[in-house]
Amino acid sequence: MAYKDLTKEKLLERISELEALNKELIDHREKEETLEFAWSGNLGHWFWNVRTNSVEFNPLKVTTLGYERSEIPDHVTYQFFTDLIHPDDFLKTMDAMKEHLYGRAAVYEAEYRIKTKDGRYKWYYDRGKITQYDDSGKPAFLAGIVFDITEKKEMQLELERKNKILAEMSSLDGLTRISNHRTLTEHLKAESSMSDMTGRALSVAIFDIDDFKRVNDSKGHIIGDRVLIEIADIIKFNIRDNDLTGRYGGEEFMVVFANTEIDAAYHAAERIRKAVESHRFPEELRVTISGGVSQYSGEDISAFIHSADMNLYEAKRKGKNRIVM
Ligand code: GH3
Ligand code: MG
Ligand code: MG
Repeated sequence: MAYKDLTKEKLLERISELEALNKELIDHREKEETLEFAWSGNLGHWFWNVRTNSVEFNPLKVTTLGYERSEIPDHVTYQFFTDLIHPDDFLKTMDAMKEHLYGRAAVYEAEYRIKTKDGRYKWYYDRGKITQYDDSGKPAFLAGIVFDITEKKEMQLELERKNKILAEMSSLDGLTRISNHRTLTEHLKAESSMSDMTGRALSVAIFDIDDFKRVNDSKGHIIGDRVLIEIADIIKFNIRDNDLTGRYGGEEFMVVFANTEIDAAYHAAERIRKAVESHRFPEELRVTISGGVSQYSGEDISAFIHSADMNLYEAKRKGKNRIVM
């Protein structure tokens, strides 16, 4: 419409029309927001004028942080909120904003902890977008929404914590806290495939406690369990980070020696045997172990384990407290 052609009366009429429409739109918008807040109660809107660095926001964003409306300063800056962000979340939140301001991300999106008035932290999910640019093309105005996701986040963290415990429980032996039978065999499978591909050596040792029944019978199962725990610790202490030890059965342990020829595995097994022999167990008990060592040569896993088992059997037959390869 060409306003220059209109009479003064027509222009005034047009202005009042536009005023009315504007008021209607604002009313409509406000109703929409109050409704939305009444439903969810965890959502806040924000508008950031970059040039004047002033932030307009729904008071909910601040009252959920424990502040009274009267405590909120008249002129709130972007830093008013960012100063409250948890130190561990600060950089990634600032980076997310920068990425968007410099045009490398379509939206600004971040999850962070923000400090409440009483010093605790709440989790916010924050999302916004540049809505206006100035004449030189720089961002001038941003609008966004922020959700209080504390409850959801805490549930998620609790779940992750429980999952970690479950994963640990299903891979470790409950008594000795070293790998269980399942983890050992999975590891052995993976290592044998690796050996097939790379041609690198792979060896395994199986240990069995000598006359362990006698320990249980004379000292009881509690001391017997203690012996198992201490032997697991001795083995762990005597192997490299790349090797894996686990409880293969009741009083049987296995070590998977990755990238190791049989001679080296034998020496490691001997070192473990000697360490057990000289260890003082509870009640001055002396305990020994026997072991069988074997090197992988492309057979299937059960045949590989069986060959170490045969050597263990041989060690027992020859009088125990020895390693056979
Ligand atoms: P050998 O020298 O021939 O191995 O004799 P051994 O007495 O050790 O005989 P064997 O291997 O047959 O016996 C294993 C014993 O280990 C039997 C069982 O009571 C005990 N054992 C297995 N698991 C546990 C456990 O978790 N705790 C305790 N305390 N004892 C266990
Ligand atoms: Mg046994
Ligand atoms: Mg035994």
